Amino acid sequence: MQYLIDQARVFRARAAAHGLDLGLQAEPARPRALFVSCSDARLVPALLTGSRPGDLFELRTYGGLIPDFSPDEVTGEARTVEYAVRDLSVRDVIVCGHSRCGLVDAAVSGYDEPTLTTAGGQWHALAQLDRLSAYPCVAPRLADSSLRLHAWFYETDTGAVLCHDPRASAFLPL
Ligand SMILES: [Zn+2]
Repeated sequence: MQYLIDQARVFRARAAAHGLDLGLQAEPARPRALFVSCSDARLVPALLTGSRPGDLFELRTYGGLIPDFSPDEVTGEARTVEYAVRDLSVRDVIVCGHSRCGLVDAAVSGYDEPTLTTAGGQWHALAQLDRLSAYPCVAPRLADSSLRLHAWFYETDTGAVLCHDPRASAFLPL
């Protein structure tokens, strides 16, 4: 914990040394995308995408799980998606799964074959994307093409990032 505290104390100085714009303006941020991913510490969206403060609006949960939309039970995930899509008007949503995900690996436990857990992780990311596309705030923006959905997959072992290509029905290198 002390390391984290020490780093936070000198954060402004480190940011200045790297010429990092902290986006401290009064205007609200206009993020490029909503980035949905697992809370896994190895997956760092800002590092993957070269993002700076203000670039990404993030939703991170265990396994990157997106619940089914329910008008009777507004979840934190649903509120986050609605704010990004309706209020911030992001144009892109990236759902990023990853290899060696605890949630996915538990779901396919008993199958140690790496290709199976990779396939499971990729299928899992697509399942979250499908669920997201059914949200009332998302569906109309998909219909008028003002919002695009992307499924990515991060290989924690190699650092490679793959993107789902619907035409190929496969995850391919970006
Ligand atoms: Zn995970």
